[in-house]
Amino acid sequence: MSTIDIAKQVETSHQTGMLALSLLKELGLAATPRNYETWCTHIQGEVPALSRDMQKFLHIDGKITQEEADTLYHLHIARADLAHDVSELATSLQVEMNELFQHIEAQNESSHEHSATLGDLTAQLDHSSTDNTSVKSLLESAINITKKMRAENQELESSLAASTNEISSLRRNVESIQKEAMSDPLTGINNRKSFDRNIARLIDESQNTTNPLTLIMADVDHFKSFNDRWGHQTGDQVLRLVAEVMNANIKGQDLLARYGGEEFSILLPGTTIENGHMLADRIRRAVESRRLKKRQSNEDLGVVTMSMGVAHYHPGDNVAALIERADKSLYLAKERGRNCVIDEREFADGEKSVDAVVA
Ligand code: GH3
Ligand code: MG
Ligand code: MG
Repeated sequence: MSTIDIAKQVETSHQTGMLALSLLKELGLAATPRNYETWCTHIQGEVPALSRDMQKFLHIDGKITQEEADTLYHLHIARADLAHDVSELATSLQVEMNELFQHIEAQNESSHEHSATLGDLTAQLDHSSTDNTSVKSLLESAINITKKMRAENQELESSLAASTNEISSLRRNVESIQKEAMSDPLTGINNRKSFDRNIARLIDESQNTTNPLTLIMADVDHFKSFNDRWGHQTGDQVLRLVAEVMNANIKGQDLLARYGGEEFSILLPGTTIENGHMLADRIRRAVESRRLKKRQSNEDLGVVTMSMGVAHYHPGDNVAALIERADKSLYLAKERGRNCVIDEREFADGEKSVDAVVA
């Protein structure tokens, strides 16, 4: 690239940066590194889906909230990084495997050659006279070939060991990227994608067994006013704490996820609705019992509470049906004044409520 090209590129980046800053200001957003990166990417027009979603979030007053900006970042920037990492890993893995196969092939060929030479020598031995010198020289050739084979085998063994190590380390990287793709960046618990996959899998399994499956949907009460009063950052800390408290109360195969915003879900395979209800209530009390304090100032922030809805799998249910009943229960819990747990038996018809009690 020529000096002129470099200068042009610097000029363009400078303009993009300045434009991003002025857009952020207009939209009422802080010029954080994340927001900056998101808007620069938008201006460069490299990710059309990002620009489209940005348009969707634009309010009548011409603003975008920080929460929405975070969503844009996670959906379009962080994900893109992740996809890039995955494809780089896949390439490294392929290169490593190719090298491994080439080694094995080369070794195979040379083994064949050696075996053929050894075969020739044996044939010569069979037909040769019992003259000591010629036998000795044939034996020496055989020994040399065997030594060479052993040395090549050792070389192959050590390159196999090195490749195996490299492949294991690549596999660990793939696992950690997969884990990252399934976890929520704010709280570290499972994200919505992970929830969607797991609920589909568990419903599939429930169709073939008599094992119960219970779902808890939990939502922080009046969280909007909490954010308005104490700020979004403090709200984020509270979401982390809520996730921590919930996580401390589950075990084994239970799967806790951030369903979205201030809403969490727990899938409980092998758990009846009665036990699911009890667990939800235990978590509700645990969250309520935490007195919240601001980190730096130690200022008392009061408490947050949660409302929860509980539903369980009915034969023939699909994912949507189970979620709908848990949502309906959660809605009832909100209606009944919040900070409480309602399960689907509250609104099930006569037949279904018998079902629910015996399940
Ligand atoms: P309700 O008791 O009916 O659930 O009231 P609410 O205020 O909790 O519910 P609403 O749906 O009106 O508002 C949800 C709020 O949750 C709005 C949004 O600011 C906040 N929220 C969602 N996601 C996040 C997040 O990632 N961080 C923070 N700090 N707040 C969030
Ligand atoms: Mg809420
Ligand atoms: Mg909500």
